[in-house]
Amino acid sequence: MSAPLTPLTDTEDQHDLRTAVAALAARYGREYFQRKARAGEPVRELWSEAAKLGYLGVNLPTAYGGGGAGIGELAVVLEELGAAGCPLLMLIVSPAICGTVISRFGTDPQKRRWLPGLADGSTVMAFGITEPDAGSNSHQISTVARRDGDDWLLTGRKVFVSGIDQADAVLFVARTEDARTGKLKPALFVVPRETPGFEYRPIPMELTAPEKQFQVFLDDVRLPADALVGDQDSGLLQLFAGLNPERIMTAAFTLGIARHALDTAVSYARTRTVWDRPIGAHQGIAHPLAQCAIEVELARLMTRKAAQLYDAGDDLAAGEAANMAKYAAGEASCRAVDQAVQTLGGNGLTQEYGLAALITATRVGRVAPVSREMILNYVAQHTLGLPRSY
Ligand SMILES: Cc1cc2nc3c(=O)[nH]c(=O)nc-3n(C[C@H](O)[C@H](O)[C@H](O)COP(=O)(O)OP(=O)(O)OC[C@H]3O[C@@H](n4cnc5c(N)ncnc54)[C@H](O)[C@@H]3O)c2cc1C
Repeated sequence: MSAPLTPLTDTEDQHDLRTAVAALAARYGREYFQRKARAGEPVRELWSEAAKLGYLGVNLPTAYGGGGAGIGELAVVLEELGAAGCPLLMLIVSPAICGTVISRFGTDPQKRRWLPGLADGSTVMAFGITEPDAGSNSHQISTVARRDGDDWLLTGRKVFVSGIDQADAVLFVARTEDARTGKLKPALFVVPRETPGFEYRPIPMELTAPEKQFQVFLDDVRLPADALVGDQDSGLLQLFAGLNPERIMTAAFTLGIARHALDTAVSYARTRTVWDRPIGAHQGIAHPLAQCAIEVELARLMTRKAAQLYDAGDDLAAGEAANMAKYAAGEASCRAVDQAVQTLGGNGLTQEYGLAALITATRVGRVAPVSREMILNYVAQHTLGLPRSY
């Protein structure tokens, strides 16, 4: 069977969605976002307005109040918010990872409990997989869930979990013991934030963002049987189902930022004159910006491909494409932001233009949710068939 033909540009619906989100985001803009970020406050107004308009749950099933579209549409929403200077990190986590995992694998009661809130933005869910002693090696995670009667007892530590202070619950990746083989295997648990034994502390980060990162201590956290998402045997599948949307959305996150930085740099280069013509007329300024524009557009194309494969249900092909898209977007975005800062000279580092903070923001796209080295490992092994070194 040949793969379905997919458009290289927006469908009419995506185009309308893009235009509408861009108009909303323009009303808030970079200055609003920076003000909130510097104050360490969530961007509640923008989040609620986007939620009311149905943008935040656009990928979730209509039966639970979502828009019934796909990750491609949610990526459009995030990219446009970022392009206006308002990249909402929690969109990657709450509707994309948690919403996808619960809608694909949750039991009916779990879907009824969590999806309507995730779809209308009134519920926010964080996602915790990274551990201090495991890092990129997620096979090494040691957070364990043990049975205690019908309940579960969850114990372990997590790091860098984004946005717990803004979240109602966290979807944690843990491991349970296989009754037959005694081996530990992954399982996902929804843990409401106020559950006794669940503690979290902010990690001081050099990021200017409305979302904070936290370390988490789980000490015999008692959870009811239905905290386990789906059944005990589908943990690995659930994890993979969440990872592709996470990578596609991280690509959209960094691409939005790159577009914002390039737009700012281009308007500056058109007017700033220190000799007898605008600096944008010098090829030393124009060519690197043109190069960045090409790289960003290529990464957008790859991100679209990954989203289309994912939304068409081809998880395997989407895996490779999502990794490549996240890599390409992270690299293109770091270069675009760096070049934008350079284009503005001293103004590239002022708070007025708000570009310098984007240097660390785009750097996140090279490290999280999976580092660029781990993507290169993936492509080397899976695409090129090379042996692995670790
Ligand atoms: C802003 C931010 C937000 C985050 N949000 C979340 C979140 O919400 N939830 C969550 O669970 N996690 C989150 N993370 C964590 C993120 O996913 C991890 O930082 C990332 O997976 C890398 O893990 P690590 O930091 O432990 O690095 P390490 O695994 O210690 O890696 C360090 C370096 O070694 C390299 N390396 C490791 N192994 C290999 C290898 N085999 N071959 C080549 N190079 C290798 C890596 O590429 C990296 O450059 C966030 C991180 C940041 C910075």
